Amino acid sequence: MGKDNKKIAKKLKPAKLVKATKKEVVKAVKTERKTKNRKEAVKKELEPIVLQAPRGMKDILPEDQPYWEQTRRVTEKLARDYGFSRIDTPLVEFSNLFNRSIGDGTDVVEKELYSFATKGGDKVALRPEMTAGVARAYIQHGMNVLGKPVKLFSTGHVYRHDRPQEGRQREFYQINYEAFGEQDPILDAQMIQVATRVVQSLGIKAVQIQVNSIGCPVCRKDYKDLLVSYLESKSNKLCVDCKRRLDVNPLRVLDCKEDKCSQVAASAPQSVDHLCEECRVHFKNLLEYLDELDLPYTINPRLVRGLDYYTKTVFEIWSGSEEGRKSALGGGGRYDGLVKLLGGEATPAIGFALGAERLIIEMKRVQAKSYKGLKPKIFLAQLGEMAKKKSLRLFSELEKNGILVAESFGRGSLKSQLRVANRLGVEMTLILGQKEALDGTVIIKNMISGEQETVSSAKLIDLVKRKLKNDNVVVYHDNHDNH
Ligand code: AMP
Repeated sequence: MGKDNKKIAKKLKPAKLVKATKKEVVKAVKTERKTKNRKEAVKKELEPIVLQAPRGMKDILPEDQPYWEQTRRVTEKLARDYGFSRIDTPLVEFSNLFNRSIGDGTDVVEKELYSFATKGGDKVALRPEMTAGVARAYIQHGMNVLGKPVKLFSTGHVYRHDRPQEGRQREFYQINYEAFGEQDPILDAQMIQVATRVVQSLGIKAVQIQVNSIGCPVCRKDYKDLLVSYLESKSNKLCVDCKRRLDVNPLRVLDCKEDKCSQVAASAPQSVDHLCEECRVHFKNLLEYLDELDLPYTINPRLVRGLDYYTKTVFEIWSGSEEGRKSALGGGGRYDGLVKLLGGEATPAIGFALGAERLIIEMKRVQAKSYKGLKPKIFLAQLGEMAKKKSLRLFSELEKNGILVAESFGRGSLKSQLRVANRLGVEMTLILGQKEALDGTVIIKNMISGEQETVSSAKLIDLVKRKLKNDNVVVYHDNHDNH
């Protein structure tokens, strides 16, 4: 008898089993087990469903979709304009991809990773950012043979098990631009330009660009030693987290939000003062390109970014106004060592991500415009069983011809349908009644003048097209440029 079964047997009434044979005990155990499973199933069934999205995750409701649509349109257009091709990678990757690339000592990996073992035993994690997955795909698909730089654009949800607050969620949406194969700082400047263009094209005109250089592994090693000895001398003034960071990720102490750590960081040695010649020239050239582009920037010596893979340039995009500057809208940097670290050939690269939720919060704050979809100018009303059936087909014919139509098929009375048409502010209503259904005609009612005319169904589409101005007709291939 297994361990579980022994437990069950113990619980069974001894009086019943005292004279039982082994076979009878096994049978009793089986019956008891079945009853237990049934009870558990019933209990589970009765457990109330929590009607709430998981903590830190949000539904994006229809009323917010115009902001999302605007964000999608602007980011996709700029990706195309600047030569990025779209790539989509899985939400899930093997966990060690993130451990190796982002780094074990980072908050993102150490505290915030949603990692789990699959039923097949694979150790996987929900992506906490996109660069690692895109770099993995770049290597896996041999994109190193493509003309450089290989520019890749990607959007989607990412997951970090962080403490939720305004602008900080556990599931959030990133818009990601990466460029592989170019080390010239002209590309760094162009990436910063793209990030700024996206934010400004969304209507957030006042933007602040923060830049810094954290050097390469060679110069950063010396700088890190210097920083650690400075921080150790002040360790009694650091928060508990930063005391720990001193060992695992000392650069991170510089951007700790705790007041006392900020004070220590203010007088800490700065990475830009300890760059090797190559990194110094790289940073100087980047700043010259930014000047050339008339992009005003602030050098923030405390900007280090949280992840291990960054080298040389790091940057963040913030709202230009004080009220909007609660957290960064986007950020990124160079990661010249990542592709090689993951097993590919040495490939310089740079990328950045913007957070859609934060962009949208700021768009709303500055009252930026959201996407306005086309509204139907025509309403289709029906009356009577036969007309109702025919109207379903007529609706689809209008739609196939690119004519946007509204309807309220479930309503029986013409009066209530016309009320809906009025509320929608359509220009004309097509009325299909019993008589028209039999005759093969449709009534066109001009909703402004109230005039009505009866036309043959065969000529209806052409007539409607003519009546509508050209810009109202085609809905699927609209070229509405919102910026
Ligand atoms: P990071 O690489 O962490 O700087 O993330 C890039 C961008 O993603 C940030 O600038 C934010 O816009 C956004 N972001 C990062 N973490 C969160 C979060 N927890 N919730 C919402 N947006 C986030």
